[in-house]
Amino acid sequence: MKATLQNIMNWARSMKVSRLGKWIRAPFARVDAKSGSRVLVHEILSLQVFSAALAGVLAIASLYWGGQWVLQDNYSRWALQWTQELNELGAPLFLADDSEALLRLESFVKRYPEIDRVAYYGRDGTMLFTVGNDDGAKSVTNLPSGALKEAVNVVGDKNPFLMSTGILNPQRFEILAPVWKESIPDDGLFDFDPTLPQQPVKTELLGFVSINLDFVIFHDRLLANIKGGILILLVVLVAFALYGRHALRNALKAISNLQEPIKELAKGNLQVEFEPAEHREIAEIVEALETTASALNARDAELLQLANHDSLTGLFNRRRFLEELRKEALKIMHGGHESALFFVDLDQFKYINDACGHPAGDRLIRKVADELLRSVGQDDVVARFGGDEFAILVPHTDEAGARLAAETLLANMRRMAHIEDERVFHVHCSIGITMLTEENILHDELINQADIACREAKMAGRNRMHVFEQSVEAEQQTAADIGWMTRLRNALDNDEFELRFQPINRVDTGETTHHEVLIRLPGDDGNMILPDVFLPSAVRFGLMSEIDFWMIRNAAEAYERESASDSDLKLAINLSANAFENEDLTSYVAAIFDKHNVAPGNIVFEITESLAVRRPIHVERQIAELRELGCELALDDFGTGYSSFSYLQKLHFDYIKIDGAFVKDLPNNPVDQKMIRLIAEIGREAGMKTVAEYVQNAETLALLADLGVDLAQGFFVGRPAKKPRRKSTPILLKSRRTKKGAR
Ligand code: GH3
Ligand code: MG
Repeated sequence: MKATLQNIMNWARSMKVSRLGKWIRAPFARVDAKSGSRVLVHEILSLQVFSAALAGVLAIASLYWGGQWVLQDNYSRWALQWTQELNELGAPLFLADDSEALLRLESFVKRYPEIDRVAYYGRDGTMLFTVGNDDGAKSVTNLPSGALKEAVNVVGDKNPFLMSTGILNPQRFEILAPVWKESIPDDGLFDFDPTLPQQPVKTELLGFVSINLDFVIFHDRLLANIKGGILILLVVLVAFALYGRHALRNALKAISNLQEPIKELAKGNLQVEFEPAEHREIAEIVEALETTASALNARDAELLQLANHDSLTGLFNRRRFLEELRKEALKIMHGGHESALFFVDLDQFKYINDACGHPAGDRLIRKVADELLRSVGQDDVVARFGGDEFAILVPHTDEAGARLAAETLLANMRRMAHIEDERVFHVHCSIGITMLTEENILHDELINQADIACREAKMAGRNRMHVFEQSVEAEQQTAADIGWMTRLRNALDNDEFELRFQPINRVDTGETTHHEVLIRLPGDDGNMILPDVFLPSAVRFGLMSEIDFWMIRNAAEAYERESASDSDLKLAINLSANAFENEDLTSYVAAIFDKHNVAPGNIVFEITESLAVRRPIHVERQIAELRELGCELALDDFGTGYSSFSYLQKLHFDYIKIDGAFVKDLPNNPVDQKMIRLIAEIGREAGMKTVAEYVQNAETLALLADLGVDLAQGFFVGRPAKKPRRKSTPILLKSRRTKKGAR
C-alpha cells in the first residue's frame, strides 16, 4: 500500500504542469489529418459541448434527486395520514366484530393502490387479519418480539409509527404503528364541563397495525419524465452543437481566411490581399499584416534598388549590367543581330579628386552619369562599373553605328564643363568598344575585350575610342599576358625577383656617383629575364604598383647592407606611374627608409618623362613630399614623348636622364648630338645634372663629355652587377682629341 502511494507520488511529480494541461485538453484536441496540427474550431466546440453536457447531466441529476426528495417527503406525509386513518378505521375492529368497519377498511385500502397490504396484530403481536392489494397479504406472520417492544414504546406519541424503507428500494415503506384508544375518566362523559381543569387522557393499547406501501409507481413516473427530459436535453445539445459549430465556424472564418494570405506572405508574395474582417480583433490582425506586407514591400523595393543600382549615380550597377548583357547575348543567339558594348573610363579623373577633394569627384561622376544617359539612345543600357568606369550596351547596332554613337559620346563629353571652387574642369573619356555577335557572346570575355580596347584608347593618347580586334597577335599577347601574370604573381609572393646595380659615372672624372637599381626575374634556364620583357604585362594586369613597392623595400635593404662598406652609397630607384596611384607611397617610403637606416639624401627616384609632364596633381603632391623627405629626383627617358623644353624649367628635378635612343648611335648622328647639347645646356641653366644612358663605347663617352653631359650610364661605364661596386671609367685622350675635332 505504502509502495503504491509512493509510486503515485512519483508519477505526480514527474508529470509537469504543461503535460497535465495537455492531458486535460487532450480529449478535445483534434488533429487535422492533412497538416497534423490541432484544429481550433473543433477544440472550442468540443469544450462547449462537453461543458453543456456536464451542465445538463448535473441538472438532470439534481432534478432526479430533488424529485426523489419531494416524493419521499410526500410519501412520509401520506404514510402518516394513512396510518392515522387506518388506526381509526381499524380501532373498532379490536373492540367488536364490526363487519362494516372491515368493509370500510377494505374500500379504503382499495382506493389507494400504493398500499400493498395492511395487517392488524393483537397486543401480543399475533396476526389478527390482513387487508391488501397484493398477494403478499397472505404470507403475513406474527410480529417479532423486538418490533413489538419498539411499537409499544411509541404509544401516545405524536408520530406514533415506526417507518422503515428498503435499502435497495427506497420507494417501499413498511410502517408499524400501535393502535390505541384514548379516554377521559368515565364521570362527566355526558355533562362535560370545559371550564373544569382538564383530566389526564387515558390511553389503552388495542393492538398494532402494519402497513406496506409501495410508491414505485411515482418513482417510475419520475424516471419516465426524467428520461423525456434527457431526450429533450440531448436534442437541444445536438442542436446546440450543430448551431455552435456553424456559429463558431462563421466567427473563426475570418481567421481561417487569413491562412492562405499568410502562407503566401511567408512564401514571399507581398502582393497578397487580405479580406476585410468584421470582428475588431481580427481586423486589427489584418491591419497589422497589411502594414507588415507593405513595409516588406517597401524594403524589398529598396533592396532591389540597392542590388541593381549604383548608389552614387542611380545607374545600373555591374551586377545588373551583366544580367542585361547576358539577356542581350541570348537575344543575339536567337535573333542573329549585332550589338555593341562600350567600356568608358574617365581620363585623368584623379585630378579633380586631388584638386578639389573626393566629394567634388563624386559630383563630377554624377554629372558624367547624367551626360552619358543624355548621350545614348533610349534602348541603350548605361551602368557604372565602379570608380570612374562606366559600361554601355548599345543593342542592335553594327560597328559603324557603334563608332558613331561613341563619337557622339566623346563630343558631348568634350563639351561638358564642370565648375568646382570657381575652377572649370573638363573631363574627357576613353572608350573601348567590342561587338556582340553570334560568335562573341561570353560576357566575361566581352567585358575583358572592351576593357582592353579602352586601355588601347588610353595608350593611344586618351579622349578617344578604340574598337577591339581579335587579331592573332592580340590573342597571343593575351595568352602571354596571362602566363606572365601568374609568373609575376608568384615572383612577388615568393620574393623571386633579384636586384642589379648599374653604376652611373661622372663623364669628366670617370668616378661613380651612384647606382641605378634594376630588377631582374630569374628564368627557368638560369638566365635573368630583363624588365622590358615582363613589365608591360605587369602594367596591363595591375601588378606594377606592387613591383614598385617591392623595389623600394629591397633597395632599402640592399642600401642598409651595402652602406656598411660604402658610406657614400647612393641609389637610384625607378617609380612607375602606378606607384603614385597608391596614396601611401610617401609614407611607405619614409617608414621603409627609417627601418633600414636609409639616408633619403642618398636616394634618387626616377620618374618617366610622360608621367612628369602630365603632372597629375596627386603625382605633383607626392613628388613634393618625396623631396621634402630629402630624396633627389630624376626625370627618366627624357626626349621620348611629350618633350617640351618649356616643361624642364617648371619641373624641379635634380637629374635629366637622356633617353638611350639619342645616345645609341651618337657618334654617327649629328641631330642627336645637337639635341643632347641642347638638353645639357638647358639642364645646366636649370641647375639639373644630365645623365646619358646606353653608353656603350669610349667614343660615345668622349662625345658626351664634349656635349657637356655630366653623367654616363651604360655597358661601357659598367654592367649591372649583383652588388653596387664603384668602377671608374677610363678617360681616353683620344676622346679628348675627337671632342676637339667635333667642335
Ligand atoms: P586614367 O586616365 O588612366 O583613367 O586616369 P585616372 O585618373 O582616371 O585614374 P583611374 O581611372 O585609374 O582611377 C580612377 C580613380 O577614380 C581612382 C580613384 O582615386 C577615383 N575614384 C574611384 N572611385 C571613386 C568615387 O567613388 N568617387 C571619387 N570621387 N573618386 C573615385
Ligand atoms: Mg580613369
